[in-house]
Amino acid sequence: MQYTPAENRYQNMRYNRVGASGVRLPAVSLGLWHNFGDVDDFENGRAIARRAFDLGITHFDLANNYGPSPGSAETNFGRMMKLDFHAFRDEMIISSKAGYLMWPGPYGEWGSRKYLVASCDQSLKRMGLPYVDIFYSHRFDPDTPLEETMGALDYIVRSGRALYAGISSYDPEQTTRAARILRDLGTPCLIHQPSYSMFNRWIEDGLIETLDEEKMGCIVFSPLAQGQLSSKYLKGIPEGSRASKHTSLPADVLTPARLEQIRKLNEIARSRGQSLAQMAVAWTLRHKAVTSSLIGASKVAHVEEAVAALDRLAFSATELSAIEAALK
Ligand code: NDP
Repeated sequence: MQYTPAENRYQNMRYNRVGASGVRLPAVSLGLWHNFGDVDDFENGRAIARRAFDLGITHFDLANNYGPSPGSAETNFGRMMKLDFHAFRDEMIISSKAGYLMWPGPYGEWGSRKYLVASCDQSLKRMGLPYVDIFYSHRFDPDTPLEETMGALDYIVRSGRALYAGISSYDPEQTTRAARILRDLGTPCLIHQPSYSMFNRWIEDGLIETLDEEKMGCIVFSPLAQGQLSSKYLKGIPEGSRASKHTSLPADVLTPARLEQIRKLNEIARSRGQSLAQMAVAWTLRHKAVTSSLIGASKVAHVEEAVAALDRLAFSATELSAIEAALK
């Protein structure tokens, strides 16, 4: 059936400015790392993407290797663009990345100009798009001069393949260097994409300050720690959940101590009148430097729940210390 987006889609979403740039991102964005590959149900992914757009989520995050199979999330998203979203391209921010292993041989991963430019062209072809809005270096490459990797991002922007450049999972020192190189080239680094959740707080150790100094945006991935920060695992590992699939969330992460933390956090969320998943999203957005919380979803209801987190973003000092105590 022909897709007609909800008319009120921009009424309730918050849009935060990305660093000092002209562009704004929704406070909640949708990532297509899992559940959009060729092993997944296309219609389920399509329903998730449509619902996200209806709720004001204008940003869809991809990478060359998302699937499985690698590349298939971009192919499926390209189909969705054709079927549902082609008329709304100018209302969307679509990103892709290159950095992890994508094809065999010496040019299929890391940070060379050869790999980044070829991978970007492959991503555009899979998605059927003339350009993406943001193209990222997915990881820092210790063996390639940073000037080469950033030079490739600058070229990708100047050649019209992307509108903005981004970096993902770079540490503070690498970020400062990358930002300086890109600034000197005349293509400012728009945004950093690091992991961040109550269970993974590395960005509090300098990166947030660096991004503030560099006036870069910050979109944090896996705010639910891949689903751990929800009530899902409190009664064991449900069939079909990410921890049951032996992919990126090893079941042995869910130790008795971790489950105890989740139980305590669940209680705190309940006392705030929120689900734990909602509190997890809200908690990542409490930093002014965090532009957007980048969630994943295997069901339409996950997107709805995450967006409803925006109804209760504020934390009292007592709630924040209760969370710290639960994480001890
Ligand atoms: P989350 O931490 O939001 O985890 C999402 C998963 O949690 C869902 O797929 C679902 O898993 C479960 N979940 C979500 N909502 C609920 C809920 N309300 N109740 C119960 N379970 C829920 O994010 P992801 O780890 O999926 O990452 C999000 C995005 O971040 C990716 O798609 C990608 O775009 C980006 N990313 C970037 C990386 C990088 O290196 N730059 C690395 C990793 C991710 P289930 O299948 O169990 O239902």
